[in-house]
Amino acid sequence: MVAWRVFHDRFPTADALARRNIPVATQVCSICETNIESIDHLFTGCPKFMDVWQLVFSWCRVPSFFAFHARDLLSYHLTAKNGARVRKAFYAVVLTTFWSIWRARNNHVFNHKQVWVRKIMEEIKVMSYLWITNRSRMADMSWDSWVDLMQLKWDSLGFLYFGRMYSDTLSQLLDLC
Ligand SMILES: [Zn+2]
Repeated sequence: MVAWRVFHDRFPTADALARRNIPVATQVCSICETNIESIDHLFTGCPKFMDVWQLVFSWCRVPSFFAFHARDLLSYHLTAKNGARVRKAFYAVVLTTFWSIWRARNNHVFNHKQVWVRKIMEEIKVMSYLWITNRSRMADMSWDSWVDLMQLKWDSLGFLYFGRMYSDTLSQLLDLC
């Protein structure tokens, strides 16, 4: 569902609402306050969210990638050469990143919450793990083997904290996808 929305440019960003004549206070991105908020800006151009992607890429040890269009990020996993399992896992991380960015953007716009790059990254690790273990043949994967697969050691305290906090939102994620 996330992929479909990106592909068809169906996120209700400020510019998309304006195109449909829905009154919006401003079309400018409320996070960087410099560019028009579009799908491509939000997911590939907004500086804070570009930082998120760079953290995601270094977590997954894939080369940094500066996309011009959001949909290009959706095919990036196809370039991975480590086999289908890793490709699938990386794709789950990419979709989770879209979801987390969109969630952070909504929290900022509607609840005036600060955008914390590190916090978004932590959420992505936990949510992609929950996603993978709930939806695929990787259901038996332990957290340890997940972080091994993604080649990162994770602080278990952080996981306990975020795991509890975000298990509530898992159903929302599953609805979205
Ligand atoms: Zn921006």
